[in-house]
Amino acid sequence: SPIFSAHGVTKVYRSGEVEVFALRGVDLDLYEGEIAVLLGPSGSGKSTLLNIMGGLDRATAGEVRFRGQDLTTFSERQFTRFRRDHIGFVFQFYNLIPSLTAWENVALVTEISSNPMKPDEALEMVGLKDRMAHFPAQLSGGEQQRVAIARAIAKRPEVMLCDEPTGALDSKTGILVLEALSRINEEMKTTMAIITHNAGIRQIAHRVFTFKDGRIADAAVNDQRARPA
Ligand code: ADP
Ligand code: ADP
Repeated sequence: SPIFSAHGVTKVYRSGEVEVFALRGVDLDLYEGEIAVLLGPSGSGKSTLLNIMGGLDRATAGEVRFRGQDLTTFSERQFTRFRRDHIGFVFQFYNLIPSLTAWENVALVTEISSNPMKPDEALEMVGLKDRMAHFPAQLSGGEQQRVAIARAIAKRPEVMLCDEPTGALDSKTGILVLEALSRINEEMKTTMAIITHNAGIRQIAHRVFTFKDGRIADAAVNDQRARPA
């Protein structure tokens, strides 16, 4: 059964007289253990859907269920708890604290989680065991993003929502970041939805959804990769 089930999700942003239809009735099931990739031109609604699934934004209409619970009925307090307990976020910009080392940036999260990984373990999983004592400014962009990924996985979220995690990186470095996500998916069985323009994503995606004008124009299974059981 799907871990996430979105039905008829519509999002309208209003500012004054202007209405922007960011999503126009999107259906998307996300299955346990899979990597779903969201492609499509800028402005087609990908981030809006990811933010709604992650409890960062609310749908105007439609239904979004997480393990059967309808997120659209959640209070702000339930939203905050849902994000904290179930979702790992990765964004284009790493938002690391510059005055803290890689290890300390990850430890900040593990200190407030109920069943966290050790920071060392999370950093090792993204290939940064030898960079734990470095400060963000001493790390490359790809390394900083992998610290941000270690921080996101350290609380063992069931789902990782990644919005252009390779957006600020050159394509080779971006592939290293995607490989780190793929390894986490395989070892921790973490379900993932990833927005990216990096062509290397084709190697790690189980399914690819292509957005156009607030709709899913195409949904494809990646024949090169077996779906998780
Ligand atoms: P994508 O992630 O595919 O680039 P987005 O989901 O960011 O697309 O945006 C979809 C549409 O919604 C765009 O037209 C965008 O300008 C609009 N939009 C997104 N966020 C807001 C917002 N907070 N206020 C107004 N319009 C927004
Ligand atoms: P909590 O306090 O329960 O962790 P937050 O409101 O901090 O919940 O949100 C959860 C995660 O989402 C955090 O990692 C936070 O940095 C991130 N986040 C929240 N809102 C935004 C936003 N508008 N843009 C980028 N990241 C955000």
